[in-house]
Amino acid sequence: QSFEELGLDSRLVRALSKKSIEKPTPIQRVAIPLILEGKDVVARAKTGSGKTFAYLLPLLQKLFADSPSKRSSAPAAFILVPTRELCQQVYSEATSLIELCRVQLKVVQLTSTMSPSDLKTSLAGFPDIVVSTPACVQTCLSSGMLQARALQESLSVLVLDEADLLLSYGYEDDLKALTAHVPKRCQCLLMSATSSADVEKLKKLVLHNPYILTL
Ligand code: AMP
Repeated sequence: QSFEELGLDSRLVRALSKKSIEKPTPIQRVAIPLILEGKDVVARAKTGSGKTFAYLLPLLQKLFADSPSKRSSAPAAFILVPTRELCQQVYSEATSLIELCRVQLKVVQLTSTMSPSDLKTSLAGFPDIVVSTPACVQTCLSSGMLQARALQESLSVLVLDEADLLLSYGYEDDLKALTAHVPKRCQCLLMSATSSADVEKLKKLVLHNPYILTL
C-alpha cells in the first residue's frame, strides 16, 4: 500500500518523496487511516518504527483542512514528549514537512530551559502546533501565557509521544492537570513502547474508546 492509498494528501506524499520516503511502515499503514477518520488511537510503537510520521502526517493533514481564518489564536494541537531531544526532533520533522508542503502552519517548541519571555514570544506568534513537555505546558497554563479557556475552543488533537517515558519521568501530575483542560471532542493519540499499568492509567485519563494497535 502507498501513502496515497492510505488517504494522505498529495502535498504530504510529495514532501515524503523528497525525503526518499515512498512506502509506509506497518504502524503508519494502520494508524494513518484511523487518525484521519478522527479516531483515538493507542499504538505500541518503538523508536525506529516510523511512529513520529504515523501521527504527524495525519495531524498535519487535519490542520491543512482548516483555513487560517477559521483557526483560533490558541493552538490546535499539542504534541507532548518526555525529553528536550525528542521535542527538537519532532519539531524539526514537523517544520520540514510544513515547509515542503508550503502550507501556512506554524509550529513551535517550548521547553523548560526557555526563559518566560522566550516562552511568551513563542506563544505570541499564534502557533497551530506546540511541541513540548507536560511540565512546560503546565507552566505556560498556570502563568496565564496559555489560556485554558481558549484551549477548550481550539484544541483538536493531543499527542502523547513515548507515553511510558512521560510517566516514568514523573510527568503524571502535570498530565493530570493538563487533561482537565482538554475538550471532550479533542482527538487523543498515545504512542508508547510498552504497555505498562501506568500507560493503562494514562489511557483512562485521556482516551475515549480508543483503537489499540499492537504492531
Ligand atoms: P521514528 O520511529 O519516528 O523515530 O522514525 C525513525 C526514522 O525512520 C526517522 O528517521 C524517519 O525519517 C524514518 N522513517 C519514518 N517513516 C519511514 C518510512 N515510511 N520509510 C522509511 N523511513 C521512514
